[in-house]
Amino acid sequence: MRNGPTRPRAGGSTADHVTVRRHNLSVVLSHLRDHGPRSRARLAEETGLNKTTVSSLVAELVDRGLVGEGETERATVGRPGQIIRLDGEHVVAVGAEVNVGYLSVLVLNLRGQVVTRQRIALDTAAMDPALVLSRLARLLDTALLGVGVHPVGVAIAVPGLVEADTGVVRAAPNLGWTDVPVVAEINRLLGEPPYPVLLDNEANLAALAEVEAQGLDRDGDLILVTGAAGIGSGIVVGGRLLRGARGFAGEAGHMRVREGGPQCACGHTGCWEAAVGLNALLAAVPGHEPPHTSAHDPEQDPLPDLERRLAEIGDRAAAGDARVLDAIAEVDRWLSVGAGILVTVFNPHVLVLGGYFAALRPWIAGSLRDELRGHVFARDGGGTRVAFSPLGFSGSVRGGASQVLDRVFRDPVLVEPVDKPLAQEETV
Ligand SMILES: [Zn+2]
Repeated sequence: MRNGPTRPRAGGSTADHVTVRRHNLSVVLSHLRDHGPRSRARLAEETGLNKTTVSSLVAELVDRGLVGEGETERATVGRPGQIIRLDGEHVVAVGAEVNVGYLSVLVLNLRGQVVTRQRIALDTAAMDPALVLSRLARLLDTALLGVGVHPVGVAIAVPGLVEADTGVVRAAPNLGWTDVPVVAEINRLLGEPPYPVLLDNEANLAALAEVEAQGLDRDGDLILVTGAAGIGSGIVVGGRLLRGARGFAGEAGHMRVREGGPQCACGHTGCWEAAVGLNALLAAVPGHEPPHTSAHDPEQDPLPDLERRLAEIGDRAAAGDARVLDAIAEVDRWLSVGAGILVTVFNPHVLVLGGYFAALRPWIAGSLRDELRGHVFARDGGGTRVAFSPLGFSGSVRGGASQVLDRVFRDPVLVEPVDKPLAQEETV
């Protein structure tokens, strides 16, 4: 958000004043997030709000536990002032993920720092969805117990066709889920909590996390393509997710790039993911059966077998094994075909490759950049930068928690004042 401050119209209604104040609270809070701790005087100077207004806005943000006062700023001119900074204790947001082989929960504070993370290996694809969700609710309970404050919201990431509006997973083929009311079920399991529970596609949330990880402006354009058994992708336009009519936008893995190509898990043939998913690579490398799983984490891997096999493929490629290099080159070729379509249509600032593509970086980065130029209509690839994800498989939970926090930055009034003077209210 780059909105400037607004002022109430002369003679405007009380409603106008309330709206303007909420907007200006957002301006000050977002300014502190984007530019770091600073004095009230500097906040006033940089936002264009007057000093009295800034002091009043800061006081309200302090009441709501969103900012605090820090040590004195060493002013070059005049009196030193107290530094205002984002609060790191009172406000937290939660990102949770259900994926093939694991459940994951990550809690961020308002500064975007990790407060706690939990991750368990679980054969989710073989379990009843209700059982998976009860395990997720338990994991959320455990994580939040350690945090000690109510979160401002929980965002749940699931791979597949997700209806964010209704909170229902319509289809998650890799999990074997159809029409699962995730939000209603989690709300019930958590005892109808006072904070919102949101649902989104895992690649969408991971794409949002990449905006920050890639150092892109908050209103930038980015496409994330994550390689697992299938392909996850998320499209960010102007800093916001492209969702489409029913929230199903960005399923690039099922673009049909190869008429008569290999069979896809979705039932069609020739889908992009059937050509470049990890299953396709493993099928092409002798001695490697396709995995039954679609995700792994290099750091906390519940699926060491998959990691071991990827490492082995890397070793064989490094040793110059021609069959492995051919298989990687074939994946790379089809990767640039699909990526070329996405870059031609969307011309993002950055195309980010994540998941197992990041593990193949030494063998695909150079050729992909070259081939992409040949597949993109605009000269020099339209200026799109190709990058690899630094987030591993934590992008979805990080993106989910960030999105919940973003709601607070857009409307700080969503957070209730910290210590309501209850006694006073009771006597009134
Ligand atoms: Zn498909």
